[in-house]
Amino acid sequence: MAKSVEAASRVDGKVIQEYVIPAKEYYGLRMARGQTLRIIEIEGQQVMDNVFINADNHTEQLSVIWSKSINGTWKLTKGHMLYSTQCKPMVEIVEDTVGMNYGGGSYCTQWSNHFRYGDPYPRNCHDNLTNALAQFGVDREQVTESSEFCNFMNVGYDPDGTCEIRVPISEPGDYIDFKAHMDLLVGMSCCPQEKNPCNNFKAKPLKFVLFE
Ligand SMILES: [Zn+2]
Repeated sequence: MAKSVEAASRVDGKVIQEYVIPAKEYYGLRMARGQTLRIIEIEGQQVMDNVFINADNHTEQLSVIWSKSINGTWKLTKGHMLYSTQCKPMVEIVEDTVGMNYGGGSYCTQWSNHFRYGDPYPRNCHDNLTNALAQFGVDREQVTESSEFCNFMNVGYDPDGTCEIRVPISEPGDYIDFKAHMDLLVGMSCCPQEKNPCNNFKAKPLKFVLFE
């Protein structure tokens, strides 16, 4: 069957919540252990930055550093468990129709925009994620670079050492599923970046479906 947003929205389970996050916007939610969060490409080539935090202990967060180290790969995709800063199983990637994500940590910030483009003012993922998680009492300092997993982001690692952001290969109807292995707070940012190939120079909406 051809990929489509409609097909991707038909989940195998009971839908708890579904929503289209507008371009450049954000959303935060609480996700119970055992539930699955699906992130769906609507137009394709749009990155979502996700932060995962233990709902009962905000100092325990996703660690993309430990997740890569324990799995022995930088190419985190279907079948990989993502681990917390305490090396506990946190969230599992149970489906991934693209197979290209960035687990290097970091998101766009006012400082990275200023450093790269001389302009701190465009919207950025750091502000989005901070705003998404504020409702749960998570403060700005607790939203850290290594707690963030970058869905659909295409960063090339070449044998000569080159590491650079490239245009995503994701298409409309592609999706990735995260199954929670503990109660989680999830921050989601439709990355607003339009000054590099990260979103192919245009910010676009994304859909999520939370189900069990
Ligand atoms: Zn961003």
